[in-house]
Amino acid sequence: MSNSRLTLTPISPHVWILPRHPDKNRVQATIGMVITGSQTIIIDAGNSLQLARQIQAALMAMDAPRISHVIYTHHHWDHTFGACVYGVPAIAHRLSHQFLTEMRQQNVGETHLRTKVERNPKLILDWTAEDWAAFEIVLPEIIYEGQEQFQFDGVTLELQHVGGVHAADSTVIKVVEDGVMFLGDCYYPAPRYENPTDQMLDMAMLENLLDENYDHYIDGHNAPMQTRHVRRILRSQALLARLNESRS
Ligand SMILES: [Zn+2]
Repeated sequence: MSNSRLTLTPISPHVWILPRHPDKNRVQATIGMVITGSQTIIIDAGNSLQLARQIQAALMAMDAPRISHVIYTHHHWDHTFGACVYGVPAIAHRLSHQFLTEMRQQNVGETHLRTKVERNPKLILDWTAEDWAAFEIVLPEIIYEGQEQFQFDGVTLELQHVGGVHAADSTVIKVVEDGVMFLGDCYYPAPRYENPTDQMLDMAMLENLLDENYDHYIDGHNAPMQTRHVRRILRSQALLARLNESRS
């Protein structure tokens, strides 16, 4: 744990990110920030209150306008648990609302993460007793279905429900004018505890999302990619599939 200031990475005129933490044991997903004339929109809330507070401090240090909304790519804890720090409305798909409501009713929180530490003793969690006492799951107040556009000071955010095996509520968030697409974890396999055998990436989904108007593809747990990186992954996966076929 470190108190040094976070380094945010600029992606395009309106988009900044905190890249995912390279140590997988931190399960710290990428956080996006869309900064418009008068507001900052956070894409995925962070996996802890501490991280959310660090995001607030980093934005304040760069004189970013006030945070006005949080958008969830999907309901998983590492994308949503920091939300209560910001005190602003969350935007998400109808299914995210349903899943988070269920998690709230089941009091999903500290015990949920303790189970994860039992499964992976190397897991690093930045949570204190005070943080757990202050924690609450923030349900989305603004709910969309299918596909919907939101305007923030002339910057268009297009939300598109893609679902998939990783999470049925997976949403892709497109920053239209900037050509930036936030993928969340949409093309990832199901979480390992749900299906330990099938861990294939959904290459068909990734290929379908490729769009000539977008050059930046930002997912939850990898470094940001540009179109050429995505194409390289698709080519190598296709080659692998052909090799496997010829071998059998
Ligand atoms: Zn996830």
